[in-house]
Amino acid sequence: MQYQYLFKNVTVVDGSGGPEYRADVAVQGDRIAAIAPAINAQAEVVIDGTGRVLSPGFIDVHTHDDTNVIRIPEMLPKISQGVTTVIVGNCGISAAGAMIGDRVPDPMNLLGEKEHFVYPTVEAYRQKVAEVCPAVNVATLVGHTMLRNNQMADLYQAASPQEIKGMRAQLRAALQQGALGLSTGLAYATAFAAPTEEVMALAEELAAEQGIYTTHLRSEFEPILEAMDEAFRIGRHGKVPVVISHHKCAGAKNWGRTRETLKLFDQVRQSQDVSCDCYPYSASSSTLDMKQITDEFAINITWSEPHPEMAGKSLQEIAQLWQTDIHSAGKRLMPAGAIYYNMDEQDVRRVLSYPVTMVGSDGLPNDPMPHPRLWGAFPRVLGYYCREQGLFPLTVAVHKMSGMSAARYQLPQRGLIKEGYFADLVLFDADTVKDSATFSQPQQPAEGIEAVWVNGVKSYEQQAVTGQRAGRFICRQGK
Ligand SMILES: [Zn+2]
Repeated sequence: MQYQYLFKNVTVVDGSGGPEYRADVAVQGDRIAAIAPAINAQAEVVIDGTGRVLSPGFIDVHTHDDTNVIRIPEMLPKISQGVTTVIVGNCGISAAGAMIGDRVPDPMNLLGEKEHFVYPTVEAYRQKVAEVCPAVNVATLVGHTMLRNNQMADLYQAASPQEIKGMRAQLRAALQQGALGLSTGLAYATAFAAPTEEVMALAEELAAEQGIYTTHLRSEFEPILEAMDEAFRIGRHGKVPVVISHHKCAGAKNWGRTRETLKLFDQVRQSQDVSCDCYPYSASSSTLDMKQITDEFAINITWSEPHPEMAGKSLQEIAQLWQTDIHSAGKRLMPAGAIYYNMDEQDVRRVLSYPVTMVGSDGLPNDPMPHPRLWGAFPRVLGYYCREQGLFPLTVAVHKMSGMSAARYQLPQRGLIKEGYFADLVLFDADTVKDSATFSQPQQPAEGIEAVWVNGVKSYEQQAVTGQRAGRFICRQGK
């Protein structure tokens, strides 16, 4: 037997959350072929894994890489972190299925320009991903705001029965074509007018196909408990699992309240399948939202259509330059992107270490001055939170970034180092791995990620892509 790759004497952190162990691991084709204390066989490439960790490639459960996997298929911001699969279509916005009229509604503009939305079905999107073959695997959710955009003339009101019927039909087709489930972004003005019943009607389609419901809550500010309750009710109605996206307590008045939100999780988990994802930073980022402008915490502008020269400056600074107040300055900058320093570090730690929290970057790949989570989320969990702060052991960190994620999102044969599973692998140095991306220099590959394999193909090594790409479109289990 000749293998393609043979890792000798490597420390396996297998993604299950179980204890790490020393082993030899062999890769044949796109699969993990053998795991044993000693494999004495030929291989095209033998890798001395002494002192190195081999783990499943990381799964970024929360991305907005929808059009980037096609337009910039090298996917350096992700593969350089050891990410081998991205889930797109989060926060109610997906490129898959979108039909854009005159202009791209907020926040779908986070995904790209009008000409990038050219996939009227999940099947069309799947085919394009297969044709381009990005460096990472791709799976997609169906965005509620996208469905609204397709079916409704006015996004600032509730959908009519006829419009709901249209959304249901498109969602059903998308799920049959392999989409993972439905995402909502109820906090955004383009979905805020949707009553709970509108989403419940869509959740009925999820039930039939056993999809998942993920949500950027209607509020992450003071009414967060009510917003969580709404999400859980929708899940119960559809009899489907719920994932609260980028769970946080935003806004100074809300700091410390993850004690309450996690307690609610504890209670609801006894009778319902609910979980969340989070990124390991105490600042958030999105399009600039007039409702979120405040002087309680710093806000940095990352892009502005009318004033691109203001990218990187704080809203406070810009207001001073223009000799006006922050609200007027915000208005003049629109449409724009922002980083909000709106979280409490203790809340971030509590959420990140919560047993059913997965890691998702929420990176914004089209932002000229992106939040550093785009390039740094996964190594920051490994380096800063796991090794330096001791928030949890390495086995738990890896589980939150691989095995837990694949199980929740029904990604078949991914997320574990296990014989027969796909060879999505990352080799890293647990003593040195760390994020390099910072708020002032956000586009930096991580340190300590030595090599990354996607479907058995070595795709990243020594801080650079290898030029070989092997990512696939992943359909929901059973599709
Ligand atoms: Zn979101």
